[in-house]
Amino acid sequence: MTGQTAPAAPPVGVSVDVPAKINPHLGVGDARADGYHALSTVYQAISLHDTVTAEPREEPGIEITISGEGAGELPTDEGNLAHKAAKLVALYAGIKPAVKLHLNKRIPVAGGLAGGSADAAGALVACARLWEVAIGDAELHRLAAGLGSDVPFCLKGGTAIGTGRGEELTPVQAKGSWNWVVATTDTQISTPECYKEVDRLREDGIGRYSSDVGPIVTAFEQGADADALARLLVNDMEAAAVSLRPQLASLMHGGLEEGALAAHVSGSGPTVLFLATDVKHAVALARRIRMRGGARSVHLAHGPVAGPAA
Ligand code: ATP
Repeated sequence: MTGQTAPAAPPVGVSVDVPAKINPHLGVGDARADGYHALSTVYQAISLHDTVTAEPREEPGIEITISGEGAGELPTDEGNLAHKAAKLVALYAGIKPAVKLHLNKRIPVAGGLAGGSADAAGALVACARLWEVAIGDAELHRLAAGLGSDVPFCLKGGTAIGTGRGEELTPVQAKGSWNWVVATTDTQISTPECYKEVDRLREDGIGRYSSDVGPIVTAFEQGADADALARLLVNDMEAAAVSLRPQLASLMHGGLEEGALAAHVSGSGPTVLFLATDVKHAVALARRIRMRGGARSVHLAHGPVAGPAA
């Protein structure tokens, strides 16, 4: 015996990776009476991801720390979707929450990649595992849908058709993998701001609802090559995002000049996705887009990937 105290045991934590989502097809209907827009979308989860870690906390409470994208800028209290998610799991289990959540964020904030929804999905899964809560798929989906339209998809990942507000999911068995260059920008666009602009443009007769997801779903199911997929990408929010942040047009144009098969605004923007032929093409394309300037950061990603509750 040396009289030294044994080193403290490492805290027992649960870590889950949660992918960002993209919408290779995003059809936006006119505003409904309840203020929501009907969506007809195809989601795909990509390899760009956040990591959510849940560790036990001695005192009751939900403590959030954040590193990476948005650290120091995002709320760490009830305003954070991960906080709301942890509270919901505790409520479901009938326990007092006592957890330290760490969000290691790589998904840009307010970038149209559902980073907040991904963290909420990650917190649902991590807290349920940490507290050993027996929760079925349907219940998990219900809790997720209560947190936001994109949260159910972030749980599952893969490829799926989303209808309703996007939360009603039908899985798509995609055969293959597609390579993207993800270019983030210095600006942010809030989703409500972008919907408002869609409505304004529609009043001026600009844009219409692309409700038919059939062609792109078939392309994913048949493992279409990237050239064919490039011709099928749709985003009814793209014109609105570009109208709000006109600098997106030059970023998109630049990527196309560098050889991207397509330039596609991600969700409500302002992140721009460039489709590449294969990994080698994506690496070269990312380098050329970086060298041109105009993007805050440039990442390589492939999809589809599985979510934490696939
Ligand atoms: P969406 O299309 O779902 O709005 P987005 O990618 O455009 O997604 P998010 O990164 O999800 O945007 O962030 C939207 C807003 O949500 C942020 O500006 C922030 O105020 C709030 N938010 C709450 N929790 C988080 C979180 N954990 N990560 C990011 N944003 C969060």
